[in-house]
Amino acid sequence: MKKVHSICPFCGTGCSLFLHVDNGKIIKVEGNKESQANRGQLCVKGMYCYQFVQHKDRLKKPLIKKNGKFVEVEWNEAISFVADNFKRILKKHGSKSIGVFNSSKCTNEENYLMYEFATKVLKTQNVDQCARLCHMPSGIAYSKMFGIGAMSCSYKDLLKAKTIMICGANPAEQHPIIFNWIMEAKRNGTKVIVIDPRKTKTAKQADIHVGIEEGKDDAFYIALCKYLIKNRMIDKNMIKRTEDYDFFVEELRPLGDVDALCDYAGVDVKYVKEICDLIQDKTVFINGLGLTESAGCVTNVELVGCLALLTGNIGKEGAGVAPLRGQSNVQGTSDIQVMYFRKLKNDAKTKACYFEKKFDGSLSSTEMIEGILTDQIKCLYIMGENPAMSHPNLRNNFKAFEKVDFMVVQDIFLTETAEFADVVLPGACFAEKDGTFTNAERRVQLLEKAVSYAGKPDWEIICALGKAMGDKNNFNYKNTKEIWKQIRKNISLYSGITYEAMKNNYGVQFPCFSMKCGNDKVCNESRMYENYFYRKSKKALFPAVRIYPPSIKANDKFPYRMITGGVLQQFQTGTMSRHCDKLNKLANEPFIGIHAEDAKELNVKDGDLLELSAPNGESIRAKARISDEVKRKYVFVPVNFKEARVNMLTSEKLIDVSKTPEYKGAIINVKKIN
Ligand code: SF4
Repeated sequence: MKKVHSICPFCGTGCSLFLHVDNGKIIKVEGNKESQANRGQLCVKGMYCYQFVQHKDRLKKPLIKKNGKFVEVEWNEAISFVADNFKRILKKHGSKSIGVFNSSKCTNEENYLMYEFATKVLKTQNVDQCARLCHMPSGIAYSKMFGIGAMSCSYKDLLKAKTIMICGANPAEQHPIIFNWIMEAKRNGTKVIVIDPRKTKTAKQADIHVGIEEGKDDAFYIALCKYLIKNRMIDKNMIKRTEDYDFFVEELRPLGDVDALCDYAGVDVKYVKEICDLIQDKTVFINGLGLTESAGCVTNVELVGCLALLTGNIGKEGAGVAPLRGQSNVQGTSDIQVMYFRKLKNDAKTKACYFEKKFDGSLSSTEMIEGILTDQIKCLYIMGENPAMSHPNLRNNFKAFEKVDFMVVQDIFLTETAEFADVVLPGACFAEKDGTFTNAERRVQLLEKAVSYAGKPDWEIICALGKAMGDKNNFNYKNTKEIWKQIRKNISLYSGITYEAMKNNYGVQFPCFSMKCGNDKVCNESRMYENYFYRKSKKALFPAVRIYPPSIKANDKFPYRMITGGVLQQFQTGTMSRHCDKLNKLANEPFIGIHAEDAKELNVKDGDLLELSAPNGESIRAKARISDEVKRKYVFVPVNFKEARVNMLTSEKLIDVSKTPEYKGAIINVKKIN
């Protein structure tokens, strides 16, 4: 039996683990006690993550659709077929007609290569990835304000914080090991504040839960900022390290007084003083999709960053901003995307990095769908993503997938999206390849190949396609270490991180500029911004702010608002977790969470079948679950179950610069089905 080190393939906590392999089969998973990210702990998803690896439904051979049916073919035939069709599309429609989806389930090396393939071979700038749907707003907000779009502190700072403020996130179910860090801090006296329309499992453990109205976070955070400024509760030394503070104060002035803002946000004004008092002390500000997928979006996150700046809670022990990350490699995939869309420069004197815009005009993943329907996009190459579950207004996506001239899906199972493809290329999963993931606290960690069960590593498939397309120079990699060297050359924040250092330390956090890696403070920062921000001026920036009301209001026909999220035992669109028997035994059915009073009004009992319908004419059905977590006139529906695809009901309206869909707060009607 051998023990192979890997990283949990589910959420962005990035738990380090060992796969126990006997006779070519993984028989169990053990948390890595030496890991600084998870200290040996794993949640239920991590414990059983090996089950999908060896599932009988894994794709083993490439599939080509012939006369409407998939036929298994050999790899050579599949690669030539895909390359020939890419060449045909390029010749007939040009490079702008091709769209490529990268994946946060894939390694940094694979995402890097996919960008190389897209930009050098397909010559398209239409490359996007799943952070567009979730944490792009956090990346945009914090890279603009502080220089780097990432958590400023580390998980261990949670234990030093006096207050942890959780804004629109439910780590108890979505990031359970981070929740363990929070609960350990709470047991030692740290106060926990949760701001969320739902009384989630996280909120139930909080000292203060603010049950804000969905989509009105910006108003409440503005109220907090105004109170801090008016009552001189600001850290003057930190303000000296910022730009545009006076402009920010001026911008806040016309946005209403604290009472009016709280009234609009549906929050008792007493919380303003209580929270402002608590965040005077060392505070970590956590945020999740409750902020990024709602009206306000980037501004919501920026306002949380403003609270950190005003109170001086950044760049010191027990303080910072901490956007959680949904998938195992959202941070790394985003770092690579930033590298391609902006030129990352390394200032030789200060070692400070700043971004320079490189090119505009690329389509986001949801815009590519619109592009197909308007005849701009003719071809899609999707690696490891499942937009037929995760994109908003799914009917539009189905129409687009049926219409597109040529569609390739590279994945480990025949996903809901792969069903639409012309060609399906079977990829290898996390346990079947080497490479790196970057977790939410910027820790870049090595995965090592444990088994060979099915499929090919995505980086090998991309290399084969690159060569088949005639590129003799850029796709000759023999292993992932060679690709990693290229990443280090291109992303200065990663430049000091070697495979050896990652192996010896169970991961290294970026920024790490020096070859002398490890936990040495000089070359590697577990806490950023202690002395300067990673902007050209070395100062943080106060942003321009305004209030963005929800784009759509509940009305007589659609009187409820729907909040979507995940359950503890399943993961996102279910591609991996619903192939884990143990997880299915724990949760294998969609449900509609509804308040007891609303249920009474509709004469609904626990377990009754409900139908939710939306203004777009679509509907879904699932059983009612009467829940004290849901506010009146709201419902909660998990995103994990294809039997009730919530995104049939969500709107494709994109919010401001991040182009993130406004998933939260769709308006719906609820009907009992007899
Ligand atoms: Fe850790 Fe997240 Fe995996 Fe759970 S799902 S073990 S919290 S990485």
